[in-house]
Amino acid sequence: MRRIYMDHSATTPVHPRVAAVVNRFMLSDYGNASSVHHFGKVAREALEDARSQVADLIGADSPSELLFTSGGTESDNLAIKGVAYARRDQGRHIITSAIEHQAVLHACDALEAEGFEITKVGVDGQGRLDPEAVRDAIRGDTILISIMLANNEVGTLQPIEEIAAIAKEYDVLVHTDAVQAVGQISVDVEALGVDLMSLSGHKMYGPKGVGALYVRRKTPLQPLQNGGHHERRLRPGTENVAGIAGMGEACLLAKEELAIRNQYLLRLRDRLIDGIMSEIPKVYLNGHPDHRLPNNVNVSIVGIEGESILLSLDMKGIAASSGSACTSGSLEASHCLLAMGLTHEVAHGSVRFTLGRDNRQEDVDEVIRELPAIVERLRAMSPLS
Ligand SMILES: *Cc1c(COP(=O)(O)O)cnc(C)c1O
Repeated sequence: MRRIYMDHSATTPVHPRVAAVVNRFMLSDYGNASSVHHFGKVAREALEDARSQVADLIGADSPSELLFTSGGTESDNLAIKGVAYARRDQGRHIITSAIEHQAVLHACDALEAEGFEITKVGVDGQGRLDPEAVRDAIRGDTILISIMLANNEVGTLQPIEEIAAIAKEYDVLVHTDAVQAVGQISVDVEALGVDLMSLSGHKMYGPKGVGALYVRRKTPLQPLQNGGHHERRLRPGTENVAGIAGMGEACLLAKEELAIRNQYLLRLRDRLIDGIMSEIPKVYLNGHPDHRLPNNVNVSIVGIEGESILLSLDMKGIAASSGSACTSGSLEASHCLLAMGLTHEVAHGSVRFTLGRDNRQEDVDEVIRELPAIVERLRAMSPLS
């Protein structure tokens, strides 16, 4: 069966160029970057090249502002807890949003259990935060604001630039989880004005288990682990050289193809949205129509469970998701859709298609061809409709 992968927000295939780089640093140039001999020097060079490639993609002032981690989850934890512990004498209040990834929400929950106070700012019906609501949440003891750049479920983009400008007025640091944005849209830390930013390799055609954290110079950060001198002692542990070099290559690739990737995906995305909306009755597009990732299509199909649609699609060889990969499998409706004001019933009917550079127009057309019949069959069986 020809399989169609439309779950790129869960993970992406590793690009062959990236795989070749990873292969090289596993099989030939496998040194420990801390060793003084030739093998060590080659590995060290690969690390620093990758750091420059990541810095270059996100417009960082200096490669030294990037730390490599084990992925988006670790970057989020290090940013939020690292700043909280480093600034705890100045205050214990942190602002985030109601629609963050679990890595951010649960890091905040853990801090709350340790005596920090967390304010979760709500979003509108399209998943956007009002920067003025963030201003209203700032208190004298606020030390950090953590708001995602692009939402993983509905693809809504947040006004981070405006939020960071407000934060600066109050001397509050800003972290953004940009895992879904980097490699999809142009992201520049200087233009955004953020102090910390999380990235993940596997959401941008790089390997799983590697990520990066941008930390603006002079940002106070306490390491969460103790060990050697790696990554400026902020993230000790022998560096994942192969993964890091692969992530560097993925950043280089993103830089080369970003404009064209973006345009291509936008065209496919809008074709898929239009096709679904015109072929299926009682469907709503979730998220913002314009401030949206170029690869995200999230719809609620009223009267049926998203999970049943996924199983039927999978039988046709089409891979999509409902809610987010991290919450699927649980019967809880997506916290993000509920925060946007959707009823449980409509939230349960949500299906997410996330496109990638490898998708073709015929893939989109096949979904538009298969989905209406699936919906019709499931609606006929459903007690909800
Ligand atoms: C995938 C994802 C993460 C987690 O990244 P991992 O590298 O899988 O740990 C964090 N935030 C967002 C928005 C994501 O989509």
